[in-house]
Amino acid sequence: MTTHVYDRQYIDGAWSASQGTDFIDVHAPNSGQLAARVNGGHEGDVERAVQAARRAFDGWSERPLAQRVQGLQRWQAALTERQSALAQAIAQEVGTPLKISQIVQVDAPIRNITNFIDCALALRWSSPLAHSELVREPYGVVACITPWNFPLHQIVLKLVPALLAGNTVVLKPSELTPQTTQLVCEALHDAGLPDGVVNVVNGLGTVVGAPLAASAFVDMVSFTGSTAAGRAVTALAAQTIKKVATELGGKSPTVVLPGADLPRAIKASVASCMLNNGQTCSALTRLLVPQAQRDEVQALIQQELARLTVGASMDAASRIGPLISRRQMQGVNALVDEGVAQGAQAIHTPATLPSDGFFVAPQAYWVTPANPLFRQEVFGPVLSVSTYGDEAEAVRLANDTVYGLAAAVWGEPAAAREVAGRIRAGQVDINGARFNPLAPFGGYKQSGVGREAGLFGLEEFMQIKSIQMNPPVAQGAA
Ligand code: NAD
Repeated sequence: MTTHVYDRQYIDGAWSASQGTDFIDVHAPNSGQLAARVNGGHEGDVERAVQAARRAFDGWSERPLAQRVQGLQRWQAALTERQSALAQAIAQEVGTPLKISQIVQVDAPIRNITNFIDCALALRWSSPLAHSELVREPYGVVACITPWNFPLHQIVLKLVPALLAGNTVVLKPSELTPQTTQLVCEALHDAGLPDGVVNVVNGLGTVVGAPLAASAFVDMVSFTGSTAAGRAVTALAAQTIKKVATELGGKSPTVVLPGADLPRAIKASVASCMLNNGQTCSALTRLLVPQAQRDEVQALIQQELARLTVGASMDAASRIGPLISRRQMQGVNALVDEGVAQGAQAIHTPATLPSDGFFVAPQAYWVTPANPLFRQEVFGPVLSVSTYGDEAEAVRLANDTVYGLAAAVWGEPAAAREVAGRIRAGQVDINGARFNPLAPFGGYKQSGVGREAGLFGLEEFMQIKSIQMNPPVAQGAA
């Protein structure tokens, strides 16, 4: 297997050597072999990128919206030209089965660029309020720090609204997806945005992400990743009082009410939990079912798990690929062992796994609320299942978590809607309702602060100025 070396940063419209001298080894999830060596980055790279973004800010923010839109449409076209290469890169780097990589990891985020553009064009950037004019303005330089699990999707959710709002950007993508980052940068370069409007600094979180969050010349940090790193980034950013938006971990529940379509509910819960091999922040990983339906639920879960073929991500038959890294695989296996040691009962005999690579079998366990599999984010293909007595207990269990990213409810529509209103999470889907890319996405509690996607995700990157007029403005004149 060829080992690629990534040692350049994309700063001020050009590639340049990183000042860093340390390298990270990145292994291929399917084989476990060394696939890439990535420069760990350097604080000097961060400084150069932040200064380039500052220099570019006045020009970019003063451009008419139509020109910023055109720049993003050119990026969208350049990504579209690389659709197949991106899908393959993500399948190989993250382990997402190729077909899912094409549809979910690549096609959907590229389409989502259009959603943001439509929102920006429809937005009232200036509006009257009594004798004031309210104006939406960019923050300035935005640091965007993104994870590896949906690499393009996370970059689009930050870069596009930040730029449409008039900010300039320093992007720090995950060090574990260098090939995807390279393709994203090439597309940015082809889009011909003015130099410094987007800068991309690769490297480790502690080496690149931390100084970005702390920088006095960065006006906003938009972070997606683990709750632990989100906490560190928030503390660093607080030193210079800047806006921080965080999209963090989850342990999202599905509540199946009596009278729900049980086969559909179980099928959807298993599918959500296992999407991207369980490496999805909003995965519905805690299934709560009526005590009286325990046996039926067990049989349905066994049936669904048996259908999930585990194999290499490039193999068309695979529904579950490998996890991203040995570390991730070992962490998931260790948490499962801990859960079993504390009484989790297996629902299904795990599938036999390929001998190489970072594979973990899809699995499900009956657990009590004290079990670590009920409480901790596993970030692997592991479903925890618990029973409840009455609806009040179901809601209490659903909310018995430090997280609050997503949830699902199955049941008679009015009853399900009522329960959805009592769940403390940013998104709740009723009876398998499909994903809405325009709906605000984000967390309650320790799942983060702020919203992404659609109009709310665009406004997250804007601050509001109120200008008091004397004599007052006529209503509707602004
Ligand atoms: P991670 O927190 O390890 O890393 C995320 C990013 O932050 C990476 O670019 C990393 O290099 C950087 N980073 C790490 N430590 C840092 C620090 N101290 N200072 C600054 N930057 C730092 O997360 P991950 O393993 O890449 O992703 C998995 C996690 O992300 C899961 O917890 C998942 O739930 C979460 N996630 C959340 C959402 C959401 O929208 N809520 C979406 C995707 C992933």
